[in-house]
Amino acid sequence: MIESNPSLASLIESASADVAELSGQAARWQAASPGRVNLIGEHTDYNQGRVLPMAIDRYIAMAAAPGVPGQIRVRSSAMAEERSLSLDQLHTPHGKPWMRYIQGVIAQYDQHDVRCPGLDVAVVSSVPMGGGLSSSAALELATAHLLEAVTGQTLTPAERIQASVQAERDMAGVPCGIMDQTVVELAASGQALLLDCLDQTARSVPFDSQALALLVIHSGVSHSLAEGAYAQRRAECERASALLGVNSLREVSPDQLARLKDEGVLHQRVTHVVTENERVRDAVTAIEQGCWDRLGALMTGSHRSLRDDYEVSCRELDLLVELATVERGVYGARMTGGGFGGCVIALVETDQFEGVADRISGQYNDRMGWAPGCYRVQAGAGAREICAAL
Ligand code: ADP
Ligand code: MG
Repeated sequence: MIESNPSLASLIESASADVAELSGQAARWQAASPGRVNLIGEHTDYNQGRVLPMAIDRYIAMAAAPGVPGQIRVRSSAMAEERSLSLDQLHTPHGKPWMRYIQGVIAQYDQHDVRCPGLDVAVVSSVPMGGGLSSSAALELATAHLLEAVTGQTLTPAERIQASVQAERDMAGVPCGIMDQTVVELAASGQALLLDCLDQTARSVPFDSQALALLVIHSGVSHSLAEGAYAQRRAECERASALLGVNSLREVSPDQLARLKDEGVLHQRVTHVVTENERVRDAVTAIEQGCWDRLGALMTGSHRSLRDDYEVSCRELDLLVELATVERGVYGARMTGGGFGGCVIALVETDQFEGVADRISGQYNDRMGWAPGCYRVQAGAGAREICAAL
C-alpha cells in the first residue's frame, strides 16, 4: 500500500488550526520545508565528494502565533507532544531531543542578532521521522523560515543552511555533513541537485520525466549500529587519507587506490568512495541523456558497493533491493541514507508503479512479518522557493 500524501496547503492549514487551538489566537505566521532523498552519492559527502539528492513533495509545515514573552511553546502532532523552551536558556542544550533542533536554529539566529520573541508554534509533518528522508533538516529549515517570517529579518540562503547544520551538530549532537540542509533549502521543483562537497557548489539537474516514478520504501528498521558505524567509517576514511597523503578521498586516483590493495578493509572503503563519486558523475550524464536503464544500473551498483565494500547495508535493505530489482519495470534500486536501516529508493516505470509497490510490499511482509512503508515521491521545491510563495 502506498502511503497517502496530503498537500502542502492542507499541512499548513492543519498546523494553523493546531496553533489556534494551542494559543487561542489565529495563526499569524507560517513556513514549510520539504524532506529530501538522495538519488546517488552515499557516504561521499564527508569525503568532499559528489552527491545527487533532490527535495521531495513531502513537508514539515509550521504555524505560529504570539506567545508568552521569553518562552517558546511547541506542539508537534507527529510526536503527540507539547513542549516549552525558555529563551533565557537558549544556548544550553536541554529538554526533549526533538525540541533541540528547533532550539538550535533559534540559538543560531540569536547569534546573528535575530531575536525570537515569545511564540506558540505548531508542527505538522508528512516526512516520516528517522527514515533517511531528512525530517531533521526539514524541521530546521522550516524553523529558520518561520523565524524570519516572525521577525521580518532574513539571512542569506547560505547562512540559513549553515545555521541549520550548526543547530544539528551543536544542539542535537549529530555530526552531519551539509548535504541535507543544502538540498532542502536550495532545491528547485522538478530538479535534482548535484552538490560538490569539495567547494560546496550546487548545480540543478532536471529530473521530472513523466515516464519515471520514484518509489521510496521504508524498511521499518533502524539498527543501533548506525551511529557507531558512521563514526568508524569516517575514521577509516581519515586513516586512508593519511596513508595516501591526501586531504580527502576525493583526490584519490585509481593508481593511488591500487596502492592500498594490501590494506584490506581500508582498500574496500576507499574503493566505495572512489567508485561512488564516479557513479554520481555518470548518473548526471544518464539523467541528462534520459538513459534510465543506465541510471538504474548505477543505482544498483551503488547499493552493491555500499553492501560489499562500505558494509553499511543490512539484511532488510538488501532484501528490499533484491525484491525491487527482479521486478520488470524497475530500472534499479539502492539503499539511501546512512545505512543499517531506513529506506531504499527504486526507479520505476510510471505505469508499473502500483503493481511493483504492491508486490514488493507483499513479499517483504511475507518474509519479515511486517509491511514496509511505500512512498511515491517527486522532485519538489526547496524551502526557499516554498516560503517565498507562501
Ligand atoms: P531523518 O532526518 O532521516 O528523518 P533524524 O534522526 O536525522 O532522521 O531526525 C529525526 C528527528 O528529527 C526525530 O527523532 C525528531 O527528534 C526530529 N523530528 C523530525 N520530524 C519531527 C516532527 N514532525 N516533530 C518533532 N520532531 C521532529
Ligand atoms: Mg536527519
